[in-house]
Amino acid sequence: MLLARRTFALGTFSVTQLSRRLSSRASAVLGALDIPTTLTELPGVYDGDWKGSGEVFQSICPTTGEVLANVKSASPAELHGALERTREAYVYLRSVPAPRRGEIIRQIREALAAKREELGALVSLEMGKIRSEGVGEVQEFVDICDYAVGLSRIMNGRVINSERPGHTILEVPNPLGVLGVLSAFNFPVAVYGWNLSISMAAGNATIWKPSPSTPLCSIAVTKIVSSVLEKNGIPGAVAGLVTGGKDVGEALVQSREVDMISFTGSENVGRVVGKNVQSRFGKVLLELGGNNAAIVMPDADLSLAVPAVFFGSVGTAGQRCTSTRRLYLHRSIAPEFLSRLQKLYASLKPGDPLDPSTLLGPLHTPVALDIYNGAITELKAAGADILAGGGRYDGLPSPLNQGNFVRPTIAIPKSGTSSALWATERFAPVLYVAEFDELEQAIAWNNAVPQGLSSSLWTRDMRNVGRWIGPTGSDAGIVNVNVGTSGAEIGAAFGGNKASRPTSIFSTGWGRESGGDAWKQYVRWSACTINFSDEAPLAQGVNFTPS
Ligand code: NAD
Repeated sequence: MLLARRTFALGTFSVTQLSRRLSSRASAVLGALDIPTTLTELPGVYDGDWKGSGEVFQSICPTTGEVLANVKSASPAELHGALERTREAYVYLRSVPAPRRGEIIRQIREALAAKREELGALVSLEMGKIRSEGVGEVQEFVDICDYAVGLSRIMNGRVINSERPGHTILEVPNPLGVLGVLSAFNFPVAVYGWNLSISMAAGNATIWKPSPSTPLCSIAVTKIVSSVLEKNGIPGAVAGLVTGGKDVGEALVQSREVDMISFTGSENVGRVVGKNVQSRFGKVLLELGGNNAAIVMPDADLSLAVPAVFFGSVGTAGQRCTSTRRLYLHRSIAPEFLSRLQKLYASLKPGDPLDPSTLLGPLHTPVALDIYNGAITELKAAGADILAGGGRYDGLPSPLNQGNFVRPTIAIPKSGTSSALWATERFAPVLYVAEFDELEQAIAWNNAVPQGLSSSLWTRDMRNVGRWIGPTGSDAGIVNVNVGTSGAEIGAAFGGNKASRPTSIFSTGWGRESGGDAWKQYVRWSACTINFSDEAPLAQGVNFTPS
Protein backbone atom coordinates (compact mmCIF):
# COMPACT_ATOMS: atom_id res chain seq x y z
CA MET A 1 0.00 0.00 0.00
CA LEU A 2 1.25 3.52 -0.78
CA LEU A 3 1.24 5.44 2.47
CA ALA A 4 3.14 8.64 1.83
CA ARG A 5 5.04 10.52 -0.86
CA ARG A 6 8.00 12.79 -0.14
CA THR A 7 11.17 13.88 -1.89
CA PHE A 8 14.63 13.51 -0.37
CA ALA A 9 18.27 13.49 -1.41
CA LEU A 10 20.02 10.17 -1.99
CA GLY A 11 23.65 10.19 -2.98
CA THR A 12 23.85 12.31 -6.06
CA PHE A 13 20.15 12.32 -6.91
CA SER A 14 16.87 12.91 -5.18
CA VAL A 15 14.02 10.43 -5.21
CA THR A 16 10.35 10.58 -4.48
CA GLN A 17 9.51 7.97 -1.88
CA LEU A 18 6.28 6.00 -1.93
CA SER A 19 6.51 4.27 1.40
CA ARG A 20 6.14 0.56 0.56
CA ARG A 21 9.21 -1.47 1.41
CA LEU A 22 10.44 -3.95 -1.16
CA SER A 23 10.86 -7.66 -0.39
CA SER A 24 14.04 -8.58 1.47
CA ARG A 25 15.17 -10.43 -1.69
CA ALA A 26 14.96 -7.28 -3.83
CA SER A 27 16.16 -4.98 -1.04
CA ALA A 28 19.39 -6.95 -0.63
CA VAL A 29 20.24 -6.49 -4.32
CA LEU A 30 19.21 -2.86 -4.64
CA GLY A 31 20.66 -1.82 -1.29
CA ALA A 32 24.10 -3.13 -2.29
CA LEU A 33 24.09 -0.60 -5.14
CA ASP A 34 22.64 2.31 -3.14
CA ILE A 35 19.33 2.10 -4.96
CA PRO A 36 16.39 2.89 -2.64
CA THR A 37 14.76 -0.15 -1.07
CA THR A 38 11.40 1.47 -0.65
CA LEU A 39 9.22 1.67 -3.74
CA THR A 40 10.34 4.94 -5.21
CA GLU A 41 10.11 7.21 -8.18
CA LEU A 42 13.68 7.44 -9.40
CA PRO A 43 14.99 10.05 -11.78
CA GLY A 44 15.84 8.25 -15.01
CA VAL A 45 17.79 10.96 -16.79
CA TYR A 46 21.45 11.86 -16.29
CA ASP A 47 23.26 14.58 -18.20
CA GLY A 48 25.66 15.71 -15.50
CA ASP A 49 22.70 16.04 -13.10
CA TRP A 50 20.02 13.52 -12.25
CA LYS A 51 16.50 14.51 -13.30
CA GLY A 52 13.31 13.20 -14.87
CA SER A 53 9.82 14.63 -14.89
CA GLY A 54 8.37 12.76 -17.87
CA GLU A 55 6.54 9.46 -18.26
CA VAL A 56 6.94 6.88 -15.49
CA PHE A 57 8.22 3.38 -16.34
CA GLN A 58 8.01 0.45 -13.97
CA SER A 59 10.81 -1.98 -13.32
CA ILE A 60 9.12 -5.34 -12.67
CA CYS A 61 10.94 -8.43 -11.45
CA PRO A 62 10.28 -11.20 -14.02
CA THR A 63 10.72 -13.90 -11.37
CA THR A 64 8.13 -12.72 -8.85
CA GLY A 65 6.15 -9.94 -10.51
CA GLU A 66 7.27 -7.51 -7.79
CA VAL A 67 7.43 -3.86 -8.80
CA LEU A 68 11.02 -2.83 -8.04
CA ALA A 69 10.86 0.88 -8.88
CA ASN A 70 9.06 3.55 -10.82
CA VAL A 71 11.47 5.43 -13.04
CA LYS A 72 10.75 8.87 -14.44
CA SER A 73 11.81 9.46 -18.00
CA ALA A 74 12.66 12.79 -19.60
CA SER A 75 10.15 15.49 -20.48
CA PRO A 76 10.69 16.82 -24.04
CA ALA A 77 12.54 19.83 -22.58
CA GLU A 78 14.80 17.58 -20.49
CA LEU A 79 15.56 15.41 -23.51
CA HIS A 80 16.45 18.49 -25.53
CA GLY A 81 18.66 19.74 -22.67
CA ALA A 82 20.38 16.35 -22.32
CA LEU A 83 21.20 16.31 -26.03
CA GLU A 84 22.66 19.82 -25.81
CA ARG A 85 24.82 18.86 -22.84
CA THR A 86 25.98 15.70 -24.58
CA ARG A 87 27.10 17.77 -27.55
CA GLU A 88 28.99 20.14 -25.19
CA ALA A 89 30.57 17.14 -23.49
CA TYR A 90 31.77 15.87 -26.86
CA VAL A 91 33.34 19.27 -27.62
CA TYR A 92 35.22 18.91 -24.33
CA LEU A 93 36.24 15.28 -24.73
CA ARG A 94 37.49 15.46 -28.31
CA SER A 95 40.43 17.61 -27.15
CA VAL A 96 41.41 15.30 -24.30
CA PRO A 97 44.35 13.15 -25.53
CA ALA A 98 43.28 9.58 -26.32
CA PRO A 99 45.63 7.95 -23.75
CA ARG A 100 44.15 10.24 -21.08
CA ARG A 101 40.68 9.09 -22.16
CA GLY A 102 42.03 5.56 -21.79
CA GLU A 103 43.05 6.32 -18.22
CA ILE A 104 39.46 7.38 -17.42
CA ILE A 105 38.19 4.13 -18.97
CA ARG A 106 40.70 2.21 -16.82
CA GLN A 107 39.20 3.82 -13.74
CA ILE A 108 35.68 2.98 -14.94
CA ARG A 109 36.86 -0.61 -15.36
CA GLU A 110 38.10 -0.66 -11.77
CA ALA A 111 34.86 0.83 -10.43
CA LEU A 112 32.78 -1.72 -12.35
CA ALA A 113 34.94 -4.64 -11.26
CA ALA A 114 34.54 -3.56 -7.62
CA LYS A 115 30.75 -3.93 -8.05
CA ARG A 116 30.80 -6.95 -10.38
CA GLU A 117 28.86 -9.28 -8.07
CA GLU A 118 26.35 -6.62 -7.00
CA LEU A 119 25.66 -5.44 -10.55
CA GLY A 120 25.47 -9.04 -11.75
CA ALA A 121 22.82 -9.71 -9.11
CA LEU A 122 20.86 -6.65 -10.28
CA VAL A 123 20.93 -7.92 -13.88
CA SER A 124 19.61 -11.22 -12.56
CA LEU A 125 16.89 -9.54 -10.47
CA GLU A 126 15.67 -7.12 -13.13
CA MET A 127 16.27 -9.01 -16.40
CA GLY A 128 15.77 -12.55 -15.08
CA LYS A 129 18.91 -14.29 -16.36
CA ILE A 130 20.70 -16.56 -13.92
CA ARG A 131 23.22 -15.04 -11.58
CA SER A 132 26.39 -16.38 -13.20
CA GLU A 133 25.23 -15.01 -16.57
CA GLY A 134 24.44 -11.67 -14.90
CA VAL A 135 27.91 -11.50 -13.39
CA GLY A 136 29.37 -12.66 -16.72
CA GLU A 137 27.67 -9.75 -18.42
CA VAL A 138 29.33 -7.27 -16.09
CA GLN A 139 32.64 -9.07 -16.64
CA GLU A 140 32.15 -8.44 -20.36
CA PHE A 141 31.94 -4.69 -19.67
CA VAL A 142 35.12 -4.96 -17.57
CA ASP A 143 36.87 -6.86 -20.37
CA ILE A 144 35.89 -4.40 -23.08
CA CYS A 145 37.16 -1.55 -20.89
CA ASP A 146 40.55 -3.31 -20.78
CA TYR A 147 40.43 -3.59 -24.54
CA ALA A 148 39.49 0.10 -24.95
CA VAL A 149 42.31 1.20 -22.63
CA GLY A 150 44.76 -0.55 -24.95
CA LEU A 151 43.02 0.87 -28.02
CA SER A 152 43.38 4.39 -26.66
CA ARG A 153 47.11 4.08 -27.46
CA ILE A 154 46.81 2.31 -30.81
CA MET A 155 43.86 3.80 -32.68
CA ASN A 156 46.29 4.64 -35.41
CA GLY A 157 45.79 6.19 -38.78
CA ARG A 158 48.09 5.54 -41.73
CA VAL A 159 50.82 7.25 -43.71
CA ILE A 160 50.35 6.66 -47.43
CA ASN A 161 52.82 7.10 -50.28
CA SER A 162 51.79 9.96 -52.53
CA GLU A 163 52.24 9.83 -56.29
CA ARG A 164 53.30 13.50 -56.15
CA PRO A 165 56.88 14.47 -55.22
CA GLY A 166 57.26 16.11 -51.80
CA HIS A 167 53.74 15.10 -50.75
CA THR A 168 52.51 12.79 -48.00
CA ILE A 169 49.00 11.49 -47.35
CA LEU A 170 47.73 10.77 -43.86
CA GLU A 171 44.55 8.97 -42.88
CA VAL A 172 43.64 10.40 -39.49
CA PRO A 173 40.91 9.00 -37.20
CA ASN A 174 39.17 11.91 -35.46
CA PRO A 175 36.35 11.77 -32.92
CA LEU A 176 32.94 11.47 -34.56
CA GLY A 177 30.65 13.41 -32.20
CA VAL A 178 27.67 12.14 -30.24
CA LEU A 179 26.79 8.43 -30.17
CA GLY A 180 23.24 7.37 -29.29
CA VAL A 181 23.05 3.83 -27.90
CA LEU A 182 19.63 2.14 -28.04
CA SER A 183 19.80 -1.21 -26.29
CA ALA A 184 17.64 -4.32 -25.88
CA PHE A 185 16.35 -5.88 -22.66
CA ASN A 186 18.37 -9.08 -22.80
CA PHE A 187 21.83 -7.55 -22.30
CA PRO A 188 21.05 -4.54 -20.13
CA VAL A 189 24.72 -3.87 -19.26
CA ALA A 190 27.16 -5.43 -21.75
CA VAL A 191 25.86 -3.92 -24.99
CA TYR A 192 26.15 -0.43 -23.54
CA GLY A 193 29.64 -1.33 -22.28
CA TRP A 194 30.78 -2.41 -25.77
CA ASN A 195 29.68 0.93 -27.17
CA LEU A 196 30.57 3.31 -24.36
CA SER A 197 34.13 2.09 -23.85
CA ILE A 198 35.23 2.14 -27.48
CA SER A 199 33.29 5.29 -28.29
CA MET A 200 34.85 7.10 -25.32
CA ALA A 201 38.33 5.94 -26.31
CA ALA A 202 37.60 7.39 -29.75
CA GLY A 203 36.68 10.75 -28.18
CA ASN A 204 32.88 10.74 -28.45
CA ALA A 205 30.17 11.52 -25.93
CA THR A 206 27.47 8.87 -25.57
CA ILE A 207 23.80 9.13 -24.72
CA TRP A 208 22.14 5.85 -23.74
CA LYS A 209 18.49 4.87 -24.14
CA PRO A 210 18.15 1.44 -22.50
CA SER A 211 15.19 -0.91 -22.73
CA PRO A 212 12.19 0.53 -20.85
CA SER A 213 11.98 -2.69 -18.81
CA THR A 214 15.55 -2.59 -17.42
CA PRO A 215 15.92 0.99 -16.15
CA LEU A 216 17.55 0.04 -12.84
CA CYS A 217 20.53 -1.63 -14.54
CA SER A 218 21.11 1.52 -16.58
CA ILE A 219 20.81 3.78 -13.55
CA ALA A 220 23.23 1.64 -11.51
CA VAL A 221 25.80 1.53 -14.33
CA THR A 222 25.49 5.27 -14.99
CA LYS A 223 25.99 6.05 -11.30
CA ILE A 224 29.24 4.04 -11.33
CA VAL A 225 30.50 5.60 -14.56
CA SER A 226 29.50 9.14 -13.59
CA SER A 227 31.26 8.88 -10.22
CA VAL A 228 34.52 8.28 -12.10
CA LEU A 229 33.86 11.13 -14.53
CA GLU A 230 33.02 13.54 -11.72
CA LYS A 231 36.15 12.55 -9.76
CA ASN A 232 38.24 13.42 -12.81
CA GLY A 233 36.48 16.70 -13.59
CA ILE A 234 35.02 15.31 -16.85
CA PRO A 235 31.49 16.47 -17.79
CA GLY A 236 28.98 13.82 -16.76
CA ALA A 237 27.18 14.12 -20.11
CA VAL A 238 30.14 12.29 -21.68
CA ALA A 239 28.11 9.24 -20.58
CA GLY A 240 24.50 10.48 -20.46
CA LEU A 241 21.36 8.44 -19.84
CA VAL A 242 17.76 8.92 -20.92
CA THR A 243 15.49 6.10 -19.84
CA GLY A 244 12.16 5.74 -21.61
CA GLY A 245 10.36 3.95 -24.38
CA LYS A 246 9.70 4.20 -28.08
CA ASP A 247 9.16 7.99 -28.04
CA VAL A 248 12.55 8.69 -26.49
CA GLY A 249 14.19 6.21 -28.87
CA GLU A 250 12.56 7.90 -31.86
CA ALA A 251 13.65 11.33 -30.64
CA LEU A 252 17.29 10.22 -30.45
CA VAL A 253 17.09 8.55 -33.85
CA GLN A 254 15.72 11.73 -35.41
CA SER A 255 17.98 14.20 -33.59
CA ARG A 256 20.63 15.86 -35.72
CA GLU A 257 22.65 16.29 -32.51
CA VAL A 258 23.32 12.53 -32.68
CA ASP A 259 25.96 11.66 -35.26
CA MET A 260 25.70 7.90 -34.94
CA ILE A 261 23.06 5.51 -33.62
CA SER A 262 24.11 2.11 -32.35
CA PHE A 263 20.90 0.10 -32.18
CA THR A 264 20.55 -3.37 -30.66
CA GLY A 265 17.09 -4.88 -30.82
CA SER A 266 14.46 -6.56 -32.93
CA GLU A 267 14.46 -6.75 -36.71
CA ASN A 268 11.12 -4.90 -36.85
CA VAL A 269 12.34 -1.86 -34.94
CA GLY A 270 15.81 -2.00 -36.50
CA ARG A 271 14.30 -1.61 -39.95
CA VAL A 272 12.58 1.62 -38.89
CA VAL A 273 15.63 2.92 -37.03
CA GLY A 274 17.96 2.16 -39.95
CA LYS A 275 15.74 3.99 -42.44
CA ASN A 276 15.22 7.01 -40.19
CA VAL A 277 18.92 7.50 -39.42
CA GLN A 278 19.75 7.03 -43.09
CA SER A 279 17.14 9.61 -44.09
CA ARG A 280 19.21 12.28 -42.33
CA PHE A 281 22.50 10.68 -43.49
CA GLY A 282 23.53 9.79 -39.93
CA LYS A 283 25.73 6.77 -39.23
CA VAL A 284 23.97 3.66 -38.01
CA LEU A 285 25.14 0.37 -36.55
CA LEU A 286 22.45 -2.33 -36.40
CA GLU A 287 22.61 -5.46 -34.24
CA LEU A 288 19.30 -7.23 -34.87
CA GLY A 289 17.74 -10.66 -34.65
CA GLY A 290 19.46 -14.01 -34.57
CA ASN A 291 18.06 -17.33 -35.78
CA ASN A 292 21.13 -19.41 -35.15
CA ALA A 293 21.76 -22.99 -36.22
CA ALA A 294 24.00 -25.76 -34.91
CA ILE A 295 24.96 -28.58 -37.28
CA VAL A 296 26.14 -31.89 -35.84
CA MET A 297 28.13 -34.26 -38.07
CA PRO A 298 28.41 -38.03 -37.50
CA ASP A 299 32.02 -37.69 -36.30
CA ALA A 300 31.20 -35.00 -33.69
CA ASP A 301 32.14 -35.49 -30.05
CA LEU A 302 28.65 -35.71 -28.60
CA SER A 303 29.92 -35.32 -25.05
CA LEU A 304 30.79 -31.72 -26.05
CA ALA A 305 28.06 -31.03 -28.58
CA VAL A 306 25.03 -32.06 -26.51
CA PRO A 307 25.79 -29.79 -23.48
CA ALA A 308 26.70 -26.93 -25.82
CA VAL A 309 23.37 -27.17 -27.66
CA PHE A 310 21.64 -27.44 -24.26
CA PHE A 311 23.27 -24.21 -23.05
CA GLY A 312 22.74 -22.53 -26.42
CA SER A 313 19.02 -23.21 -26.51
CA VAL A 314 18.14 -22.91 -22.81
CA GLY A 315 20.69 -20.39 -21.44
CA THR A 316 19.12 -16.99 -20.62
CA ALA A 317 15.83 -18.87 -21.16
CA GLY A 318 16.43 -18.72 -24.91
CA GLN A 319 16.66 -14.93 -24.90
CA ARG A 320 20.14 -14.38 -26.29
CA CYS A 321 20.53 -13.02 -29.79
CA THR A 322 22.97 -15.92 -30.24
CA SER A 323 20.66 -18.59 -28.75
CA THR A 324 20.55 -21.87 -30.68
CA ARG A 325 17.13 -21.95 -32.37
CA ARG A 326 17.71 -24.49 -35.15
CA LEU A 327 19.42 -27.87 -34.77
CA TYR A 328 20.44 -29.91 -37.82
CA LEU A 329 21.49 -33.44 -36.90
CA HIS A 330 23.10 -35.98 -39.19
CA ARG A 331 20.60 -38.78 -39.58
CA SER A 332 23.01 -41.40 -38.19
CA ILE A 333 23.45 -39.71 -34.79
CA ALA A 334 20.06 -37.96 -34.45
CA PRO A 335 18.33 -40.54 -32.17
CA GLU A 336 21.33 -40.72 -29.79
CA PHE A 337 21.76 -36.93 -29.74
CA LEU A 338 18.08 -36.22 -29.08
CA SER A 339 17.83 -38.84 -26.37
CA ARG A 340 20.78 -37.24 -24.50
CA LEU A 341 19.41 -33.73 -25.05
CA GLN A 342 15.94 -34.70 -23.81
CA LYS A 343 17.51 -36.06 -20.60
CA LEU A 344 19.19 -32.72 -19.97
CA TYR A 345 15.93 -30.87 -20.66
CA ALA A 346 14.11 -33.19 -18.24
CA SER A 347 16.64 -32.30 -15.52
CA LEU A 348 15.77 -28.59 -15.69
CA LYS A 349 14.01 -27.01 -12.76
CA PRO A 350 12.76 -23.44 -12.89
CA GLY A 351 13.97 -21.33 -9.99
CA ASP A 352 14.97 -17.96 -8.67
CA PRO A 353 17.80 -16.82 -10.97
CA LEU A 354 19.50 -15.27 -7.94
CA ASP A 355 19.95 -18.75 -6.47
CA PRO A 356 23.35 -19.99 -7.68
CA SER A 357 21.99 -23.50 -8.33
CA THR A 358 19.30 -22.29 -10.78
CA LEU A 359 19.87 -22.90 -14.50
CA LEU A 360 16.46 -21.83 -15.75
CA GLY A 361 15.09 -18.40 -14.93
CA PRO A 362 11.93 -16.75 -16.25
CA LEU A 363 11.21 -15.02 -19.52
CA HIS A 364 11.66 -11.28 -19.18
CA THR A 365 8.13 -9.98 -19.66
CA PRO A 366 4.55 -11.02 -20.45
CA VAL A 367 5.31 -9.92 -24.04
CA ALA A 368 8.04 -12.58 -24.14
CA LEU A 369 5.45 -15.09 -22.81
CA ASP A 370 3.20 -14.20 -25.74
CA ILE A 371 6.07 -14.84 -28.16
CA TYR A 372 6.68 -18.26 -26.58
CA ASN A 373 2.97 -19.14 -26.55
CA GLY A 374 2.66 -18.04 -30.18
CA ALA A 375 5.55 -20.30 -31.20
CA ILE A 376 4.04 -23.30 -29.40
CA THR A 377 0.59 -22.70 -30.88
CA GLU A 378 2.11 -22.44 -34.35
CA LEU A 379 4.06 -25.69 -33.88
CA LYS A 380 1.04 -27.58 -32.59
CA ALA A 381 -1.15 -26.25 -35.41
CA ALA A 382 1.46 -27.49 -37.90
CA GLY A 383 1.43 -30.96 -36.31
CA ALA A 384 5.02 -30.78 -35.07
CA ASP A 385 6.41 -33.49 -32.78
CA ILE A 386 7.05 -31.86 -29.39
CA LEU A 387 9.91 -33.77 -27.75
CA ALA A 388 10.19 -31.59 -24.64
CA GLY A 389 8.33 -28.69 -23.04
CA GLY A 390 5.43 -27.18 -24.91
CA GLY A 391 3.85 -24.94 -22.29
CA ARG A 392 4.12 -23.07 -19.01
CA TYR A 393 4.99 -24.59 -15.64
CA ASP A 394 1.96 -25.29 -13.44
CA GLY A 395 1.88 -25.22 -9.66
CA LEU A 396 5.10 -23.36 -8.96
CA PRO A 397 5.41 -22.24 -5.34
CA SER A 398 4.82 -18.60 -4.43
CA PRO A 399 6.29 -16.15 -5.40
CA LEU A 400 7.60 -17.99 -8.50
CA ASN A 401 3.99 -18.58 -9.57
CA GLN A 402 3.88 -14.85 -10.35
CA GLY A 403 6.91 -15.15 -12.66
CA ASN A 404 7.14 -15.71 -16.43
CA PHE A 405 8.39 -19.32 -16.35
CA VAL A 406 8.03 -21.56 -19.40
CA ARG A 407 9.19 -25.04 -20.31
CA PRO A 408 12.05 -25.02 -22.81
CA THR A 409 10.80 -26.81 -25.88
CA ILE A 410 12.28 -29.13 -28.50
CA ALA A 411 10.16 -29.66 -31.61
CA ILE A 412 10.44 -31.42 -34.94
CA PRO A 413 8.31 -29.34 -37.32
CA LYS A 414 6.60 -31.17 -40.14
CA SER A 415 6.95 -28.24 -42.53
CA GLY A 416 9.98 -28.17 -44.85
CA THR A 417 13.12 -26.45 -43.59
CA SER A 418 12.53 -23.49 -45.89
CA SER A 419 9.12 -22.57 -44.45
CA ALA A 420 8.44 -19.29 -42.63
CA LEU A 421 8.43 -21.17 -39.34
CA TRP A 422 12.16 -21.86 -39.66
CA ALA A 423 12.95 -18.40 -41.00
CA THR A 424 11.50 -16.38 -38.11
CA GLU A 425 13.31 -15.53 -34.89
CA ARG A 426 11.21 -16.57 -31.87
CA PHE A 427 12.85 -14.92 -28.89
CA ALA A 428 12.07 -17.78 -26.49
CA PRO A 429 13.49 -21.23 -25.56
CA VAL A 430 12.11 -23.14 -28.55
CA LEU A 431 14.47 -25.37 -30.54
CA TYR A 432 13.51 -26.69 -34.00
CA VAL A 433 15.18 -29.92 -35.14
CA ALA A 434 15.68 -31.52 -38.58
CA GLU A 435 17.81 -34.38 -39.90
CA PHE A 436 20.18 -34.19 -42.86
CA ASP A 437 22.31 -36.58 -44.94
CA GLU A 438 25.06 -34.38 -46.40
CA LEU A 439 26.90 -31.38 -44.97
CA GLU A 440 26.07 -29.32 -48.08
CA GLN A 441 22.37 -29.77 -47.36
CA ALA A 442 22.79 -28.64 -43.75
CA ILE A 443 24.85 -25.60 -44.81
CA ALA A 444 22.13 -24.67 -47.30
CA TRP A 445 19.53 -24.85 -44.51
CA ASN A 446 21.79 -22.86 -42.19
CA ASN A 447 21.97 -20.11 -44.82
CA ALA A 448 18.32 -20.22 -45.90
CA VAL A 449 17.05 -17.71 -43.31
CA PRO A 450 17.18 -13.91 -43.41
CA GLN A 451 19.18 -13.64 -40.19
CA GLY A 452 22.93 -14.21 -40.19
CA LEU A 453 24.28 -13.79 -36.67
CA SER A 454 25.75 -17.00 -35.25
CA SER A 455 26.29 -20.59 -36.38
CA SER A 456 28.10 -23.65 -35.17
CA LEU A 457 29.45 -26.87 -36.73
CA TRP A 458 30.33 -29.96 -34.69
CA THR A 459 32.88 -32.19 -36.38
CA ARG A 460 36.40 -33.63 -36.00
CA ASP A 461 37.03 -33.75 -39.75
CA MET A 462 39.12 -30.79 -40.88
CA ARG A 463 37.76 -31.04 -44.43
CA ASN A 464 34.31 -30.16 -43.03
CA VAL A 465 35.87 -27.24 -41.16
CA GLY A 466 37.38 -25.91 -44.38
CA ARG A 467 34.01 -26.03 -46.14
CA TRP A 468 32.20 -24.45 -43.19
CA ILE A 469 34.40 -21.39 -42.70
CA GLY A 470 35.09 -20.73 -46.41
CA PRO A 471 33.17 -19.04 -49.23
CA THR A 472 30.66 -21.87 -49.62
CA GLY A 473 30.14 -22.29 -45.89
CA SER A 474 28.11 -20.49 -43.25
CA ASP A 475 27.07 -16.95 -44.20
CA ALA A 476 26.66 -15.79 -40.57
CA GLY A 477 28.90 -13.25 -38.84
CA ILE A 478 29.91 -15.81 -36.21
CA VAL A 479 31.06 -19.15 -37.65
CA ASN A 480 32.09 -21.49 -34.84
CA VAL A 481 33.56 -24.98 -34.87
CA ASN A 482 33.06 -27.25 -31.85
CA VAL A 483 31.85 -24.18 -29.95
CA GLY A 484 28.13 -23.42 -29.49
CA THR A 485 26.31 -20.52 -31.13
CA SER A 486 25.68 -18.73 -27.88
CA GLY A 487 27.97 -16.13 -26.42
CA ALA A 488 31.19 -14.60 -27.68
CA GLU A 489 34.41 -13.11 -26.40
CA ILE A 490 35.08 -9.39 -26.68
CA GLY A 491 38.28 -9.72 -28.74
CA ALA A 492 36.59 -10.46 -32.07
CA ALA A 493 34.15 -8.01 -33.63
CA PHE A 494 30.59 -9.13 -32.91
CA GLY A 495 27.72 -8.86 -35.37
CA GLY A 496 25.70 -10.32 -38.19
CA ASN A 497 25.93 -10.54 -41.97
CA LYS A 498 23.35 -10.73 -44.71
CA ALA A 499 20.78 -8.47 -46.30
CA SER A 500 17.12 -9.46 -46.26
CA ARG A 501 16.20 -12.48 -48.39
CA PRO A 502 13.74 -12.40 -51.31
CA THR A 503 11.17 -14.03 -49.02
CA SER A 504 11.66 -11.71 -46.07
CA ILE A 505 12.13 -8.04 -45.23
CA PHE A 506 14.30 -8.88 -42.21
CA SER A 507 18.01 -9.22 -41.54
CA THR A 508 20.47 -9.18 -38.66
CA GLY A 509 21.94 -5.91 -39.96
CA TRP A 510 25.64 -5.56 -40.63
CA GLY A 511 26.80 -4.07 -37.34
CA ARG A 512 30.14 -4.82 -35.73
CA GLU A 513 30.68 -4.04 -32.05
CA SER A 514 33.27 -4.82 -29.43
CA GLY A 515 36.69 -6.03 -30.66
CA GLY A 516 38.40 -6.47 -34.00
CA ASP A 517 38.23 -3.34 -36.15
CA ALA A 518 34.87 -2.23 -34.70
CA TRP A 519 36.45 0.99 -33.33
CA LYS A 520 36.88 2.30 -36.88
CA GLN A 521 33.13 2.92 -37.07
CA TYR A 522 33.22 5.30 -34.12
CA VAL A 523 35.56 7.81 -35.74
CA ARG A 524 35.40 10.23 -38.65
CA TRP A 525 38.24 9.57 -41.04
CA SER A 526 40.20 12.52 -42.40
CA ALA A 527 42.31 11.91 -45.53
CA CYS A 528 44.98 14.62 -45.40
CA THR A 529 47.30 15.27 -48.36
CA ILE A 530 50.18 17.48 -47.22
CA ASN A 531 52.49 19.27 -49.62
CA PHE A 532 56.02 19.78 -48.22
CA SER A 533 57.42 20.89 -51.60
CA ASP A 534 57.70 24.13 -53.57
CA GLU A 535 55.59 22.78 -56.42
CA ALA A 536 51.84 22.19 -56.55
CA PRO A 537 51.29 19.39 -59.09
CA LEU A 538 47.81 17.96 -59.62
CA ALA A 539 47.14 14.25 -59.18
CA GLN A 540 46.93 11.89 -62.16
CA GLY A 541 49.18 14.32 -64.11
CA VAL A 542 46.30 16.71 -64.79
CA ASN A 543 47.53 19.96 -66.33
CA PHE A 544 45.55 23.10 -65.53
CA THR A 545 48.09 25.78 -66.44
CA PRO A 546 46.65 28.79 -68.30
CA SER A 547 48.42 29.27 -71.67
P1 NAD B 1 13.20 -3.98 -29.27
O1 NAD B 1 13.48 -3.80 -30.72
O2 NAD B 1 11.79 -4.10 -28.85
O3 NAD B 1 13.82 -2.73 -28.44
C1 NAD B 1 15.16 -2.35 -28.57
C2 NAD B 1 15.29 -0.87 -28.17
O4 NAD B 1 14.65 -0.04 -29.15
C3 NAD B 1 14.65 -0.53 -26.85
O5 NAD B 1 15.47 0.38 -26.17
C4 NAD B 1 13.33 0.12 -27.28
O6 NAD B 1 12.77 0.97 -26.30
C5 NAD B 1 13.76 0.88 -28.50
N1 NAD B 1 12.71 1.20 -29.47
C6 NAD B 1 11.51 0.60 -29.64
N2 NAD B 1 10.85 1.18 -30.68
C7 NAD B 1 11.66 2.16 -31.16
C8 NAD B 1 11.55 3.09 -32.23
N3 NAD B 1 10.47 3.13 -33.03
N4 NAD B 1 12.58 3.93 -32.45
C9 NAD B 1 13.69 3.88 -31.68
N5 NAD B 1 13.85 3.03 -30.65
C10 NAD B 1 12.85 2.17 -30.40
O7 NAD B 1 14.07 -5.24 -28.81
P2 NAD B 1 13.99 -6.08 -27.44
O8 NAD B 1 12.71 -6.83 -27.40
O9 NAD B 1 14.36 -5.20 -26.30
O10 NAD B 1 15.22 -7.10 -27.64
C11 NAD B 1 15.10 -8.35 -28.28
C12 NAD B 1 15.67 -8.31 -29.68
O11 NAD B 1 17.01 -7.78 -29.67
C13 NAD B 1 15.79 -9.68 -30.32
O12 NAD B 1 15.33 -9.61 -31.64
C14 NAD B 1 17.28 -9.98 -30.28
O13 NAD B 1 17.73 -10.87 -31.28
C15 NAD B 1 17.85 -8.61 -30.47
N6 NAD B 1 19.23 -8.54 -29.97
C16 NAD B 1 20.22 -8.53 -30.91
C17 NAD B 1 21.54 -8.50 -30.50
C18 NAD B 1 22.65 -8.51 -31.50
O14 NAD B 1 23.77 -8.20 -31.13
N7 NAD B 1 22.39 -8.83 -32.77
C19 NAD B 1 21.84 -8.46 -29.13
C20 NAD B 1 20.80 -8.45 -28.21
C21 NAD B 1 19.48 -8.50 -28.65
